[in-house]
Amino acid sequence: MRLQSFIGGTPLLELTTLDIPRHVRIFAKLEFLNPGGSIKDRVVSYILDDAERRGILRSGSTIVENTSGNTGAAIAMLAAMRGYKAILTMPDKVSKEKQNALTAMGADVVVCLTSAPPDSPGHYVATARRVHAETPNSFMLNQYDNPLNAEAHFRSTGPEIWAALGKQISAFVASGSTGGTISGIGRYLRAKNPAIDIVLLDPLGSIYHKYFHQGVVDPGQIAPYHVEGVGEDHLAKCMDFSVLSDVLQFSDADAFATCHHLARSEGLLCGGSSGANVWGAIQLARRMKEPGSIVTVLPDNGVKYISKIYNDEWLVDHEMRPFRDPGTLVPKRD
Ligand code: PMP
Repeated sequence: MRLQSFIGGTPLLELTTLDIPRHVRIFAKLEFLNPGGSIKDRVVSYILDDAERRGILRSGSTIVENTSGNTGAAIAMLAAMRGYKAILTMPDKVSKEKQNALTAMGADVVVCLTSAPPDSPGHYVATARRVHAETPNSFMLNQYDNPLNAEAHFRSTGPEIWAALGKQISAFVASGSTGGTISGIGRYLRAKNPAIDIVLLDPLGSIYHKYFHQGVVDPGQIAPYHVEGVGEDHLAKCMDFSVLSDVLQFSDADAFATCHHLARSEGLLCGGSSGANVWGAIQLARRMKEPGSIVTVLPDNGVKYISKIYNDEWLVDHEMRPFRDPGTLVPKRD
């Protein structure tokens, strides 16, 4: 069997240690168990398969993409397996561990300034476009604007969740960057049951929350935050606002405190967006009056963030507590 056949089909685990009302259940899809270590394996294999079928991607091609790391890991893995070259651009806030993993699999990495404005030539998205234009026989996935990104989730992750829980599902909640996850899964679940709430979680410092609630992209809102891979400084075409019921904001501390809770109480060592997703599921659970289940995803593994999220000195340096005292874990309300 090829490595690729192990992409998807991830377990859906009930989280049982969270402080939520008894009539609500929270399930997390363990996307970090994909062979490339994240949810992005699904999207990248789906887009590459399509490009190969259409003959755009062929022997000797170079795959180019802007990526916060997980898409890059999936590209590097699949490029190594299928014999393509890969050139990946990323902002410099991405952990060194993620960068090194890509070069280990043979990809070239171009690190760009996180502070470069979205419309400047030094931004990592503009840099990827330039490299693509300058590299003959290159293929760019264009994950932010490519409808196949959300379609991958519409065809795989969404159906897997529905097959496991069906009518029990009251809500799906997830943070997003390209919007592929929330839009694809959201559209599928909504098509099955229009009553399901689809809730996006947005980090403080990203533009999606204000855009959803007030219809404006406010550059003044853009501020640095430490949860990687989610939130945006520009609108991604893949983000389908029409499928969203609500957008909630979270802080780095919300996400990281929940990460520590998951690690200590559930044995799940996850990345920051997983913490954000479970934090969001908890907020929804506490508002739910009727019995039901909330589903979320755990997009990637915590090993990549040991020097940040799971490092007390780093947390203190970034004005957060070491989240070890049980009192600082997911706080008790009701
Ligand atoms: N979490 C992590 C760690 C990610 O890398 C990404 C993708 N950038 C996401 C969540 C968000 O997924 P999507 O791009 O599908 O919105």
